Amino acid sequence: MTASLIDGKKIASEVKERLKAKISGLAADEIPGLAVILVGDDPASSVYVGQKEKTAREIGINSRVYRLPATTAQDDLLALIGNLNESPDVHGILVQLPLPGGLDRDAVITAIRPEKDVDGFHVVNVGKLWIGSDAVAPCTPKGIMALLDSTGVELKGKEAVVIGRSGIVGKPIAAMLLSRHCTVTICHSRTRNLPDVARRADIVVAAIGMPNFVTGDMIKPGAIVIDVGINRVDGRLVGDVEFESVSAAASWITPVPGGVGPMTIAMLMQNTFQLAGI
Ligand code: NAD
Repeated sequence: MTASLIDGKKIASEVKERLKAKISGLAADEIPGLAVILVGDDPASSVYVGQKEKTAREIGINSRVYRLPATTAQDDLLALIGNLNESPDVHGILVQLPLPGGLDRDAVITAIRPEKDVDGFHVVNVGKLWIGSDAVAPCTPKGIMALLDSTGVELKGKEAVVIGRSGIVGKPIAAMLLSRHCTVTICHSRTRNLPDVARRADIVVAAIGMPNFVTGDMIKPGAIVIDVGINRVDGRLVGDVEFESVSAAASWITPVPGGVGPMTIAMLMQNTFQLAGI
């Protein structure tokens, strides 16, 4: 079998076009507002924040970026979040992670009002996701679900194996697949016989951060494979999935780049729109 490509770039661009059309019909005081806080000068974080700012502008969301020095005190950061919590024209607040050492990530994320937590990382939203209540869902897993749905394959009853258990990808995508009635297994660095577990899966989500970790011999023929990994190898972006061998076995596969990455930003825009309550 040669897998069909799930074109995240195209699907993300359709999401953004739909949002742009909706926003263009709004009155000035209804425009969704997104506040992004970047602390320090991590180059990758700067690039991500720049992409978010540019996309927000393109589709008509009001975005404000607060670029703070790495030496920012925790109290000053919390005070800024407090102000944004109270600001009526800010509907979504995002603190770019990772934060520089010395800042308490959990305290910072918890300071964001859950109704403005556009990344879905606040403990209230994490809890809501797991109990299946309406929540702001984290952008990358939300994008993955949209990619899976784009295949038209029924998810109910499928065996899904998620490789990676981070709070931003592995755990939330497991919760979302579970709520769509998949039988979900989460693998991680201490999992025994991981290739055997992966071979059971109708759906594999790889979120590890190790280039070409998932190989064709770990894939059940016809499985759907979602590659979340972004790894830089010799100046090139490479996923966690060895594309050639895996696409020979899978039915559907996401490329890197052009798969999950563009969906993450599109879902951030969708979450901002959702939080504006329009
Ligand atoms: P993380 O480092 O927080 O978590 C990695 C997970 O992989 C851990 O849970 C760990 O248990 C697991 N792992 C590590 N070694 C393993 C092994 N040998 N076998 C099995 N599991 C192993 O990473 P993350 O934040 O979840 O990100 C994962 C990857 O996804 C990274 O490459 C990251 O850049 C990428 N990412 C992409 C997007 C996107 O928009 N495309 C968004 C977030 C993360």
